[in-house]
Amino acid sequence: MNISRSTYLYNRARNVIPSGVNSPVRAFKSVGGTPLFIKKASGSILTDEDDNEYIDLIASWGPMILGHANPKIAEAINNKVEYSTSFGAPTEIEIAIAELITKMAPNIDKIRMVNSGTEACMSAIRLARGYTGRDKFIKFDGCYHGHSDSFLIKAGSGASTFGVPNSPGVTKGTANDTLTARYNDLEDVARLLEENKGEVAAIILEPVCGNMGCVLPKEGFLEGIRELCDKYELLLIFDEVMTGFRLAQGGAQEYFGINADLVTYGKVIGGGMPVGAFGGREEIMNYLSPDGPVYQAGTLSGNPIAMIAGYTMLKELYQNPQIYEGLAEKTTYLAEGLERVFSESIYDYRINHIGSMINVFFVDVDVVDFDTASQNNSELFGKFFHAMLNRGVYLPPSPYESYFLANSLSYEQLDHIINATIESLARMKFD
Ligand code: PMP
Repeated sequence: MNISRSTYLYNRARNVIPSGVNSPVRAFKSVGGTPLFIKKASGSILTDEDDNEYIDLIASWGPMILGHANPKIAEAINNKVEYSTSFGAPTEIEIAIAELITKMAPNIDKIRMVNSGTEACMSAIRLARGYTGRDKFIKFDGCYHGHSDSFLIKAGSGASTFGVPNSPGVTKGTANDTLTARYNDLEDVARLLEENKGEVAAIILEPVCGNMGCVLPKEGFLEGIRELCDKYELLLIFDEVMTGFRLAQGGAQEYFGINADLVTYGKVIGGGMPVGAFGGREEIMNYLSPDGPVYQAGTLSGNPIAMIAGYTMLKELYQNPQIYEGLAEKTTYLAEGLERVFSESIYDYRINHIGSMINVFFVDVDVVDFDTASQNNSELFGKFFHAMLNRGVYLPPSPYESYFLANSLSYEQLDHIINATIESLARMKFD
């Protein structure tokens, strides 16, 4: 029997890589079927190992905001590679990217580079704990801050204030210091703060969620969180791994006009290379080692190839601020097109979008938090995902992920996506 090259590779991968993938959602577990292995990409077109082409709505889960294989980024990397790929010593390009970030993003006096969003969030929490001398922090159900132990916690049953690990391997001791609240629910946060007075170092949140699908903060929510942080004298950490340099040059802080104390970045900041970063007010950042007491380090942190990729990406965005308007217009065009198509279908749905993030949920409630996001009909989503894939559109293979638009998407490609949606919704009844 002839199998596709992707299937052959998946079977081969499963022998030597757990589940055949290096990050779980790539395995297509929640949509069924076998994952596509990607050979190359250019602009907004992905090509798989069987030479099928797809319009890409993942953008590598965010980083490829300018599209794949951007010539300027590719050239900058190529030019740097021959000077060696790592020194483990300071380089000028690290200063250049830090200077650019402090210019582009509000409230970032100093920034330290790491290798992933996980590292950025993990380090920001340690710093917040070290700075405040308190152990606990608050996160929100459905917000993802990477896979370090203290973030892999969901709310306990009922009104329990203590977290329950949602992965074996995370200890109850760790979970006890992670308090979880309902997104968009200020009262829930205020209650937790009252019950844990003087013990909470920070509140960390995605100012726009991308990890339960795209979920927007309600009017006043972010302002209310800022006020609570001030009232209880704790740090506000914006996890801008998704929203940073995507919603606006200055990310969600600029978009919503809210000042965070610490901010974490990833994705766009590395131009597709493994990069994360965390930054914030000088007096907090000065707590970091070696001048300060809070330890944090990385053999490959500030890697010259990663830095030149990130720097070139950020410079493009800095010099061409009109990219953000263009992206928002494209996203609104797609949202309106999808709205028309879905409103004529038999399916319950909601479409959330902001900036260049968008999501379709198969639900009959407004999606404002993890409970409502969890009502997304995953069976319908799986059918929709495959129907779209068959029509050349690559959506994130999970109902809990936002789609990301890249500036390289053309209006013709957006029309293709809208037409594919018409056909997919019509077809799904029979699948
Ligand atoms: N925070 C947010 C908001 C994210 O979306 C992610 C990754 N999806 C992370 C942190 C973790 O980043 P990484 O996968 O680079 O470790």
